[in-house]
Amino acid sequence: MDKRIVLITGAGIGIGRAAALAFGAQGDHVIVTDVLEDKGLAAVAEIEAAGGSAEFQALNVRSTEAADALVGDLNARFGGIDVIVANAGIALRVPMAEMSDETWHETLDVDLYGMLRVIRPALPAMKEGASIICLSSIMGTNYGWDEHVHYSTAKSGVIGLIRGLAVEFADKGIRVNGVAPGYIRTAQLLNPGHSLGPDAAEIASPYIPMKRLGEPSEIANVIKFLASSDASYLTGQVITVDGGLTPG
Ligand code: NAD
Repeated sequence: MDKRIVLITGAGIGIGRAAALAFGAQGDHVIVTDVLEDKGLAAVAEIEAAGGSAEFQALNVRSTEAADALVGDLNARFGGIDVIVANAGIALRVPMAEMSDETWHETLDVDLYGMLRVIRPALPAMKEGASIICLSSIMGTNYGWDEHVHYSTAKSGVIGLIRGLAVEFADKGIRVNGVAPGYIRTAQLLNPGHSLGPDAAEIASPYIPMKRLGEPSEIANVIKFLASSDASYLTGQVITVDGGLTPG
């Protein structure tokens, strides 16, 4: 198969799904992974209905064993992965005074270690021209929101992961970059108990110079660019996509 092999974590809904559709539409073979099997299968069906190529693979990024097995299988079948979008993430809203060890560890485990789990076994088989894109957040760069200390800590760590990997693998032709989204219209932002909840647009829009939430496709477009040869001299960078909210 001479299509690029694109592995996306958390690709059943939200930004991951939008990225899966974008890569599928440009002729790549998309490995849609998620804990949400029905959503992942629906994303694959949507890509195929549009004439693209995709498959669903169940993956909980909290399992090193499962990530090693899946990536090992993909390496064996395709000779290496061309693009990884390390996207799966959670953002529960928890005041610091009520932060349990379990919540702290879960957030760092999914949002930071979960990225390493899929990237690490893929690196040895990745070839010149391969690209890794990790989802950070403006809350990992220079923006804060209350009751998100665990999330900010994880997303700052993602920037360290990006910069460290980028330097270590630059001379092997593997580029590693990130996107730091602002407020994007997904379940993570809108669902009760998550970042801002159902009133996210009303709460956040007054602070955003563009006066609106971002759409998942507007993040997917930047991810697609970072994975393309148009970004061939770009590595170790985190691009802020937030409607002008932060200086980046
Ligand atoms: P979302 O909640 O819509 O989707 C997250 C996806 O990750 C879901 O498909 C979910 O099933 C999956 N996931 C969660 N835990 C998982 C696990 N243990 N293993 C595998 N998959 C798992 O969220 P989103 O807004 O699309 O977020 C995508 C990424 O973008 C996340 O890393 C998030 O932190 C980041 N981000 C989002 C926003 C925003 O405003 N929506 C802002 C900044 C950064």
